[in-house]
Amino acid sequence: MKELVVISGKGGTGKTSVLAAMASMATNAVVVDCDVDAANLHVLLNPQIQRRFDFYGGKIATIVKNRCTSCGICRDLCRFDAITPDYQVDAIACEGCGVCVWNCPENAIEFKEHKNGEWYISQTRFGDMVHAKLGIAEENSGKLVTMVRNEAQKLAQKYERDLLLVDGPPGIGCPVIAAITGADAVLIVVEPTRSAMHDMERVIQLARHFHIPVSIVINKYDLQMDLTTKIRALCQREKLDVVGEIPYDLDLVRAQMNGKTIVEYTDGNLRTCFVELWNTVQRHVLNRLIVKSSDHRRECV
Ligand code: SF4
Ligand code: SF4
Repeated sequence: MKELVVISGKGGTGKTSVLAAMASMATNAVVVDCDVDAANLHVLLNPQIQRRFDFYGGKIATIVKNRCTSCGICRDLCRFDAITPDYQVDAIACEGCGVCVWNCPENAIEFKEHKNGEWYISQTRFGDMVHAKLGIAEENSGKLVTMVRNEAQKLAQKYERDLLLVDGPPGIGCPVIAAITGADAVLIVVEPTRSAMHDMERVIQLARHFHIPVSIVINKYDLQMDLTTKIRALCQREKLDVVGEIPYDLDLVRAQMNGKTIVEYTDGNLRTCFVELWNTVQRHVLNRLIVKSSDHRRECV
């Protein structure tokens, strides 16, 4: 089983549309939405939840009033100003570090598991999907991403799927690291804007740090050809495969508004681009991984 993670650095480059289109063409894959802070793959894949699980990402402090002597030690020690003047814990500000619990002379602070979100095993019209939702203002999305990936791997093994298609989170922080660590390949979706290019360079460095082969898709490549030329040059310099170039086309937006992948929505030019992209990804990324994983890593990194 191979694991391909689609990331972008900058949000809004079309990463999820690319992932959804590939999911609609894959024949034996589990789809994984690791963008747990702002999940939106469900809009296109309309998953029907089969099993629902609570996610406990950490602990939270609670002061037991009748044991508290208002000595003030916990307020002085809390680095996150999470304890109010009348000795209550602000659940949003509490980072669950436990310092107050360990230092309370009256043993008046309880430290209980805190539900941060939920994760799901679902069915889509393209097969199994594992996804999650982090609660509002909740932390520990990296931990939730790791859990979602692990559960998706177990599901794929159980049903003998040969591919995990992972929609990764934006940025280069903890959730992205959790999404790509140990993956077989990373596909970066970039658009020809300066901020997207900048973020692409940062996620390339991140993937290289973890020795993961990288390929590039340029979305809306015809919007700013001067920047697309620069992206192509950068990829050539860095020895990265550009496995697809997708033109700007409002059909992509129309497909989203209709809750469909672009491959389902149209028979036009854009569909052809995505079919070619998927064929190239299978030929140049996935097949090479299966045939000669270590050689491919050297080529791409
Ligand atoms: S350290 Fe314990 S006893 Fe002191 S104010 Fe905090 S909760 Fe109350
Ligand atoms: S667990 Fe840490 S963050 Fe939360 S109230 Fe106690 S000291 Fe503050």
